[in-house]
Amino acid sequence: MKLSYSPFQLQLKHRFTIAKFSRTATPIMLLQLEHEGYIGYGEASMVPYLGESLETATAFLSKLDISQLQYPFNYPGIIAYLDSLAKGNTAIKAAIDIALHDLESKLLHKPCYELIGSDPLLMPSTSITIGMDEPAVVLQKVKEAAQASVIKVKLGSPDDKQLIETLRAATTVPLYVDANQGWTDRQQSLELVYWLQEQGVQLIEQPFNKTDPDSNAWLTQRSPIPIIADEAVQRLGDVEPANGVYHGINIKLMKSAGMYEAGQMIAKARELGLKILIGCMSETSCATLAAAALAPQCDWADLDGPFLTSNNPFKMPDFADGKWVLSKVPGLGLAPV
Ligand code: MG
Repeated sequence: MKLSYSPFQLQLKHRFTIAKFSRTATPIMLLQLEHEGYIGYGEASMVPYLGESLETATAFLSKLDISQLQYPFNYPGIIAYLDSLAKGNTAIKAAIDIALHDLESKLLHKPCYELIGSDPLLMPSTSITIGMDEPAVVLQKVKEAAQASVIKVKLGSPDDKQLIETLRAATTVPLYVDANQGWTDRQQSLELVYWLQEQGVQLIEQPFNKTDPDSNAWLTQRSPIPIIADEAVQRLGDVEPANGVYHGINIKLMKSAGMYEAGQMIAKARELGLKILIGCMSETSCATLAAAALAPQCDWADLDGPFLTSNNPFKMPDFADGKWVLSKVPGLGLAPV
């Protein structure tokens, strides 16, 4: 097995603003694992507010003993090994795990969705996110998101209603809302939820701070729209505590340390009766297709990375009727541009 990696700056089409942060590019580590003439591709997307960087990723990889990644891959053992090298660092762990899945499906001559037991016919629609902005920019973004059959909008400012009204003047597609922990008043939030329901909103992500399960649970008990944990849930151990606080969870590969643990989280959520949204960071086709391979096992998908970025180093995957189309070729279906 041979490992190689290279840093990359993934440019965003628009400055991206959520409740607490704003940026125009995301540092990415692209990774390749080569075995018996096949190459598995992996990607770590390191959005700055989660604490990883090109420096931490490089430091992590310098500790990696490649002989621990023996084929056939023992994923629970590999994740335990990666966790033993350093806490956190979930994006670079995900890059390794994604590359292993791409590589393994190539070695077995199967599409990755088959390797992990997903039925492509169950692929959910993918929402495309529109960040907070002035009305004219929001309308431009709606035009750019014309392929989407669902739009996700980031709320958490005093102009929330105005943003939704601007959107509603331009499109009738269903909406997902992400408050990114920005709401603070329970009663006001509940009133807003009922108003959002009238506006065709179908789910709400992380209304209150992740450290305030009581307020999140209070809203979940009263909300006619599913309330989904995002910031509150990162890895497998966070799924059980979300039960009773949220209707469902948002799984992202960059938080879960990759596809293997995301699969474990899906199984745990199903056991508990929690709904599942699969989401992404600013990502290339690589991590997006890895999440898309798992998406048929989830209720909703928010895998819009390649739509929001301008220098994807991989070919844009096929997208039809608002959904990613999984390739039947062995692996994740990635092709460098
Ligand atoms: Mg979110």
